[in-house]
Amino acid sequence: MRRELSVVGGGVVGLACALAAADDGWTVTVYDAGARRRAAHVAGGMLGCFGEGHPGEGELLDVAAASAALWPDFLTRLGDPAVRTADSSILLGVSSTDLAYLDEQVRFVRGRMPDVDLPRCTGNRLRRHESALARGTAGGYLAEGEGAVDNRLLLAALTRRFEQAGGTIVTDTVDDPTALTGDQVLIAAGLGSTALAGLVGADVPLRGEKGEILRLRRTRWSVPPPTHVIRGRRHGRPIYLVPRADGVVVGATQYEALGPDDRAPQAIGVAELLADAIAVMPGLSTYELAEAAAGIRPSSVDGVPVVRRVDERILIATGHGRNGIALSPWTAARIRELLNHPEREG
Ligand SMILES: Cc1cc2nc3c(=O)[nH]c(=O)nc-3n(C[C@H](O)[C@H](O)[C@H](O)COP(=O)(O)OP(=O)(O)OC[C@H]3O[C@@H](n4cnc5c(N)ncnc54)[C@H](O)[C@@H]3O)c2cc1C
Repeated sequence: MRRELSVVGGGVVGLACALAAADDGWTVTVYDAGARRRAAHVAGGMLGCFGEGHPGEGELLDVAAASAALWPDFLTRLGDPAVRTADSSILLGVSSTDLAYLDEQVRFVRGRMPDVDLPRCTGNRLRRHESALARGTAGGYLAEGEGAVDNRLLLAALTRRFEQAGGTIVTDTVDDPTALTGDQVLIAAGLGSTALAGLVGADVPLRGEKGEILRLRRTRWSVPPPTHVIRGRRHGRPIYLVPRADGVVVGATQYEALGPDDRAPQAIGVAELLADAIAVMPGLSTYELAEAAAGIRPSSVDGVPVVRRVDERILIATGHGRNGIALSPWTAARIRELLNHPEREG
């Protein structure tokens, strides 16, 4: 069998799969319409697992746990220690109502993963781990091992490792995946996957979920950035702070995008994120607002990624929604399995 693979889409999912295939000896070409459209360029970079354990999303939690186990080897393969920016998370309820919501979420996670270690802490105890958290915080949970990566360093490291492994990236828009050369073709085009899958008879509906996100940079006068990912709830709204070498990423809103070009941040999203971030960690008020951006998450209907074989030549990996970075090693492992054992079902 000749082993040539064409990948449509050079986002985090396409690149992770492309690197895995190149490592297995496939000759891989990635076709990408443009890096500016990659959701992972704006993302927070949380490697969510327990923090993503929302009641009703059991299958997604299982996939997230499986992917979390693959991250250490994935990071070793990338070979850049700066990619990882946090090792653990604090799940935080700002008020007692927010904490009660979190209690439900953790009850669900424990029901699905009985051995999970998620100690519940008072606000004061959490402040021993992150001294800049606001006084009066109701409390939360410590999620050891649930870390984060720098999304942009991750994309750069993936690109570098893929090219070093002999892979090629072509900047081009693919209109018809069946016209590509290669024994196998992987559609990993984020939101663009629906139209491409339709051309090969596969129905893959996706929702575009827009999200605003901010980058705050520490100044000489500021408190240091947190060392944990802080995943909080305030007034019922989710808010997270993800450490970076020079500051913190603050995310993220989530609502239906008006269309694929609806990528400008709205004032209200930015205002709420800033207010919630400063309420969680008041010292952030002296940080510089370095960037306000928005991206669109390609989300499947049930929240579980679509990773499967379409026919004997075409595979698909899309629909990762709010977790595409966290789930990329799991996705790459699934695609690797389907490529190397074409007789297996997706
Ligand atoms: C605000 C925000 C915060 C997020 N935070 C996190 C987080 O903390 N943790 C996490 O795990 N995930 C997070 N995500 C989600 C994550 O970024 C996405 O799930 C992931 O990036 C999706 O990757 P993808 O490769 O499937 O799609 P995309 O990133 O959309 O990439 C698809 C690529 O395909 C290309 N393409 C499309 N059509 C074609 C075509 N016809 N021909 C050629 N190329 C084509 C596009 O140009 C693009 O480069 C966040 C997302 C957003 C928006």
